[in-house]
Amino acid sequence: MSKLEPLYDKRYQCLFCQQKFTNKKVRLISIRQVGRDSDFCGYFEGENPYFYDVAVCPHCGYAFTANFGPVKKDRRELITEQYIKKIKYKDYTGRRDLPTAIKVYKLAYLTGTLNQEKSSLLASLCLRLGWFYRYSHEPKEEHRYLRRASELYQEAYAQEDTKTTEEAHLWLYLIGEIEGRLGNYVVARQWLSRLLHVPSLEPYLRNLLMEIWEYYKEKIAEDKSENQ
Ligand SMILES: [Zn+2]
Repeated sequence: MSKLEPLYDKRYQCLFCQQKFTNKKVRLISIRQVGRDSDFCGYFEGENPYFYDVAVCPHCGYAFTANFGPVKKDRRELITEQYIKKIKYKDYTGRRDLPTAIKVYKLAYLTGTLNQEKSSLLASLCLRLGWFYRYSHEPKEEHRYLRRASELYQEAYAQEDTKTTEEAHLWLYLIGEIEGRLGNYVVARQWLSRLLHVPSLEPYLRNLLMEIWEYYKEKIAEDKSENQ
């Protein structure tokens, strides 16, 4: 019977209090992706694996993903005062719906900010929050989080020395793609143009890039003709 169950209990050790707990995860074999937007927002039939990428410790409430680093010594007191002492509801160990997923990602954005996690990590949380508000058809909130994601990817691109070439390409693409979604077509093309002449560009990105490059070119032309 358990083989048919799409969710299973994954074991975690809390990065803040070190206690052990479980949160749900979607079994890889039961993930059914039925669509994808040009910023990689996936659509799923049945359980959405994104909802379960944030673990929340039911003992202390600390929220984190697999990419979080250890809690920094000099951030511990601040995290205790501004987060641990304030969080009231901590049990996210069960199945998650969209509103619950939004809550846990906001918690992870908060702990990640307090623990000074990398900009690229915080950007990925904001991008997902943007997608979640796209699922729920709340464009104002979607744009708020996409805007923050673009800012954080720009910070990451400028500052993170540890980035791989592939990461740098992906961030450039995402910044351009997000700016386009926010209606900033000229800015979008400026960011995307940096990828146009990269000979080693990953084929999956090259295809997406050419599609949106043309699309935003048309949009700019439309804007111009409307303003004339
Ligand atoms: Zn904990």
